[in-house]
Amino acid sequence: MGRVAVAFAAVAVVAACSVAAMMVGRRLKSRKKWRTVVEILKELEDDCDTPVGRLRQVVDAMAVEMHAGLASEGGSKLKMLLTFVDDLPTGREKGTYYALHLGGTYFRILRVHLGAQRSYLDVQDVERHPIPSHLMNSTSEVLFNFLAFSLERFIEKEENGSDSQSVTRELAFTFSFPVKHTSISSGVLIKWTKGFEISEMVGKDIAECLQGALNRRGLNMHVAALVNDTVGALSLGYYHDPDTVVAVVFGTGSNACYLERTDAIIKCQGLLTTSGSMVVNMEWGNFWSSHLPRTSYDIDLDAESSNSNDMGFEKMISGMYLGDIVRRVILRMSQESDVFGPTSSVLSEPYVLSTNSVSAMHEDDTPELQEVARILKDLGGSDVPLKVRKLVVKICDVVTRRAGRLAAAGIAGILKKIGRDGSGGITSGRSRSEIQMQKRTVVAVEGGLYMNYTMFREYMEEALVEILGEEVSQYVVVKAMEDGSSIGSALLVASLQS
Ligand code: ADP
Ligand code: MG
Repeated sequence: MGRVAVAFAAVAVVAACSVAAMMVGRRLKSRKKWRTVVEILKELEDDCDTPVGRLRQVVDAMAVEMHAGLASEGGSKLKMLLTFVDDLPTGREKGTYYALHLGGTYFRILRVHLGAQRSYLDVQDVERHPIPSHLMNSTSEVLFNFLAFSLERFIEKEENGSDSQSVTRELAFTFSFPVKHTSISSGVLIKWTKGFEISEMVGKDIAECLQGALNRRGLNMHVAALVNDTVGALSLGYYHDPDTVVAVVFGTGSNACYLERTDAIIKCQGLLTTSGSMVVNMEWGNFWSSHLPRTSYDIDLDAESSNSNDMGFEKMISGMYLGDIVRRVILRMSQESDVFGPTSSVLSEPYVLSTNSVSAMHEDDTPELQEVARILKDLGGSDVPLKVRKLVVKICDVVTRRAGRLAAAGIAGILKKIGRDGSGGITSGRSRSEIQMQKRTVVAVEGGLYMNYTMFREYMEEALVEILGEEVSQYVVVKAMEDGSSIGSALLVASLQS
C-alpha cells in the first residue's frame, strides 16, 4: 500500500470512529433526555398520589371544615352559605316558568312547563351559548344588559310574536358564583371566581341587577329566585327522587350543596323553617386541607391566576383548570428535554390547552394516537413519536385521576357530615344488620366535566366505592342531572308559587 493510500485509510478510520462516537453520544444524550421526562412523569405521579388512606383524611377534613363553617361566620374556608331554600319541588307544581343560568363558560335560557304531576315536566327550548369573553371583565351594566337582551330574544322567538306581555313571566336566575343571600330572591355577590373580574359588582344585589336590566328593556319578567347552580341541581334531583339530599357540580368550576338540619346551622341560631332544614351552599371550591396532594404545577397555576390563594380545591378538580395543569407539565418537559421538539411559544400561553382537549387525548382510541398528535401540533409542537404521545396520555390520566378521586373524597365528606357514610355505625360498633338499615342517599351530579369526560366520572365513582366500601356504597346513588342547574331552578320558582 502506498503512503497516500495508508494516510487515506487512516483518515477514513478516524472519521468512522468519530461518526460512531457522535452517534453513541447522541443516543446517550437522547436517552438522558428521555430519562428526564420519565423522571418528571414519575415525580408527577408521586405528587398526585391518592391512596385510599389519604382520601379518607380528605374526607375527614371536609367533614370537620363543614362543621366549622356552620359554627361561625368565617370559621372555615368553607362559607357554608344559607340559601333560604327550605322546601324542594315535590312534583305537584304547575305552570310555565323560565330560567336564566350564568355559568362559568356558558349561559343558558330555558322554559319549562309543568302539569302538576312529576311525569309532566316538559323542558322547552333550551338555549346554550358561550359567554362572550369580553363580558367577564366588563361592567355590571354591560353584563346584565346583555343577559336581558338575550332573554328578550329568547322570548320573542319562542312566543312567535303573540302578545303575552300582559302575563308576568316568572324567572329563576341561576347564578354560579358565591352569593350571600338575604332571602330566596335576593343576595349580594361575595366574590368572583372562574376568571370573572367585574370588581364593582362585588357587594351588589345580583337579582336586583338583573331585574333592573329587564325593566330597562321593558320585559314583563319577575326574578322570583336567585339560585346557586348546585341548588338547582338538587331541586331537579329531589323533584324526581326525594332521597336526593346532596348535589355537586363539576363544570368550569366545582361546588356542592346539601340539605342540612336548621339546628346544625349554629351560626344562625333561631333559624326557623317549616321543614326544619335548609339547603346549604358549601362553596366547596375554596376547601383546603394539608392532606390534598399538591404539586409545583398547582402552586404556579394558583400564583398566576386572577384569584390566587383562593379556590384551591376547585383548581385541582374542575374543568377550567385540569387542562392548564396538564399544559404546565408538558411545558416543563419540553423545556428540560427535546422530546417535544423546540419549545413552542403557544405552549407557554396560560389556558391554551382546554380540558376538552385533555379528555380528547386521554380517550383517544386510535392505534397511533392521532388525536394526541393533532392537539400537540395545535399547541405548536412538532410531530412526535408514539412513545411521546403515550407519555402525554399518561399525564392526562394522572391529573384527571387525582381530580376524580379528590372529587369522590369531597362527596364522601358530605355524606360523613350528615351521617350517611356508614362510619358512625362502624365506630359506634353497630351491628351489620343496623348498617344495612342505612338510608338510601341520592347525590345529584351535573356539569360539563362530569357529563362529558368519561374517565373523570369513572375515577370519581370508583373512588367513592373504595372510600365507602361495597356495603355502604349500595345505599349511595349518584345520579346525573343533565341541565339540572337550570331546570331545577325553574322548578324551585314553581314550588314557591304553589
Ligand atoms: P358552566 O360551567 O358554564 O355551567 P358546563 O357545566 O357545561 O358549563 O361545564 C363546561 C366545562 O366542562 C367546560 O369548560 C370544560 O371545562 C368541561 N367540559 C365540557 N365538555 C368536556 C369534555 N368533553 N371533556 C372534558 N371537559 C369538558
Ligand atoms: Mg354550571
